[in-house]
Amino acid sequence: MSRKKTQPEVHKDEIIAEIRRKQEESAKTYREQALKIFPWICGRCGREFTGKRLRELTVHHKDSDHNNNPPDGTNWELLCLYCHDNEHSWYEDVEWYGDTATGEDQEPLSGNKPFSGLEALLKKDKK
Ligand SMILES: [Zn+2]
Ligand SMILES: [Zn+2]
Repeated sequence: MSRKKTQPEVHKDEIIAEIRRKQEESAKTYREQALKIFPWICGRCGREFTGKRLRELTVHHKDSDHNNNPPDGTNWELLCLYCHDNEHSWYEDVEWYGDTATGEDQEPLSGNKPFSGLEALLKKDKK
C-alpha cells in the first residue's frame, strides 16, 4: 500500500487576499512612514509642524495613486492641509482624509471659507 502524500494546496485566492491585506495595512501606515522619513515641514509653504499640529500635516501622493507607496517615500510629499487643498480639490481626492489614524477629531479645513470673498462683495454692493 502506497500512501500518497498530499501537499496541502495553497489557494491562489488566499495568497492574493493576503497580499491585498498587507497592501492595505501599509497604506494605513504610510503617513507614519512618511513622517519618519521626511522633516515635519510642509513642502509648499515651509511651515513646521510639531506636537498636536502635526495632524495638519498630510501625505500627498505625487502621482495621485494612493496605492503607490514605495517605502523610500519617492511618491510622497508632506503638505499642510491648506497647501494640500490647493494641490487638488479635496472633494475628488480623499487620500489624506480618513487614514491619518491619529484618533483625534478630523475637522474640515477650518481656514477654508469659500464664501468669505463673496460676503465681502455683497457688503460692498449693499452700502
Ligand atoms: Zn503648507
Ligand atoms: Zn494629495
